[in-house]
Amino acid sequence: MQDDDDRNSLNPKTRLVTAGRGKASGRGIVNPPVWRASTILFEDVADLRAATRKPDDGLYYGRRGTPTAWSLADALTELEPGAEGTLLYPSGVAAISAVLLSLLDPGDELLMVDSAYEPSRALCNGLLRRFGITTRFYDPMIGAGITELIGDKTRVIFLESPGSLTFEVQDVPAICTAAKARGVTTVLDNTWATPLLFPALAAGVDISILACTKYIVGHSDVMMGSATAAPGFYAPLRRTAMQLGQCVSPDDAYLALRGLRTLGVRLRQHEEGGLAVARWLAGQPQVADVRHPALPGCPGHAVWQRDFSGASGLFSFVLNGGNDAARTALIDGLKLFGIGFSWGGFESLALPVDPAGLRTATRWDAAGPVVRLHIGIEDPADLIADLADGLKRFDAARG
Ligand SMILES: *Cc1c(COP(=O)(O)O)cnc(C)c1O
Repeated sequence: MQDDDDRNSLNPKTRLVTAGRGKASGRGIVNPPVWRASTILFEDVADLRAATRKPDDGLYYGRRGTPTAWSLADALTELEPGAEGTLLYPSGVAAISAVLLSLLDPGDELLMVDSAYEPSRALCNGLLRRFGITTRFYDPMIGAGITELIGDKTRVIFLESPGSLTFEVQDVPAICTAAKARGVTTVLDNTWATPLLFPALAAGVDISILACTKYIVGHSDVMMGSATAAPGFYAPLRRTAMQLGQCVSPDDAYLALRGLRTLGVRLRQHEEGGLAVARWLAGQPQVADVRHPALPGCPGHAVWQRDFSGASGLFSFVLNGGNDAARTALIDGLKLFGIGFSWGGFESLALPVDPAGLRTATRWDAAGPVVRLHIGIEDPADLIADLADGLKRFDAARG
């Protein structure tokens, strides 16, 4: 085993191959096995008492994890050089709610990006409000201008870059610099990029959240979330996770670790296919706008070029006029695209999305209805042919 400094100097795609293997794979097993346990038996009472004094050190109680989950947590920590540790949660939304509940007290204010994932918004307007935590939504393109929104009660700034559905790329370093100057904690939902395309902690983020359900698992069959913390932020997250009773199944942790190994090659394929489809769409008369961070028209494209080492396979396009029925005609006849929410697997998906009703700090005025695509690992030529037929159906339905 190499020491941490040696490993951090390696390309992340190289680190992926053995990340997190330390704790679970004795005796030469390549993939850490599934360790199932609720009860842990102690040698004697003295052993039990010693374990109780140091419950974080080794097997203690199934809810606190077994080597399978620890391996996954360690692997995700290794992908964010400088991180103190990673907590695992039963879903991405569980990670978001547990992180915010651990950072905010009644009377505190949260600044939440206006292009946030809809359940993040619902959490602010629901549970957090009930607990006396107020939320102000802010323009995703605000950058260093966030300074003017930070008040005496502001404790946390939540970022998501690019934004859900509309893909604005945020100036994460500028916002984190402004936050640090005022002692405000930053939390980023980094699900789109993963640490492979955007190492969040290196950009100044305090806590980076992933819906592992998406690209980490990568095969559309496990729900999981994670939060990776910079030094000083791990202990409070862990305390809250324990109090909420958050844990993940060892089988799910095993599948997530197995998915993680191929994240590099999968993302490269999602990027290549996604760009091919996005560029083709941008040239079609039925398409008014393509929201893909790697295309020049996307808000924050220059920031994406500066900060990201690539693109994943999720983006949106705006139709040129037409109504919901015409959009439905496009989507319903697609043969290769599934209609479904949870992206990040190997298959392509199409989804009708309506951002206008999900904004309060900014407006969404688009030329027509919006379709979000996830481009899987199919041959993009086949996907383009399928979409070309879809645009013909859109034309026919639009009249
Ligand atoms: C899917 C998603 C989540 C939530 O993850 P779940 O595992 O489905 O709870 C959070 N943020 C973003 C950006 C997502 O796409």
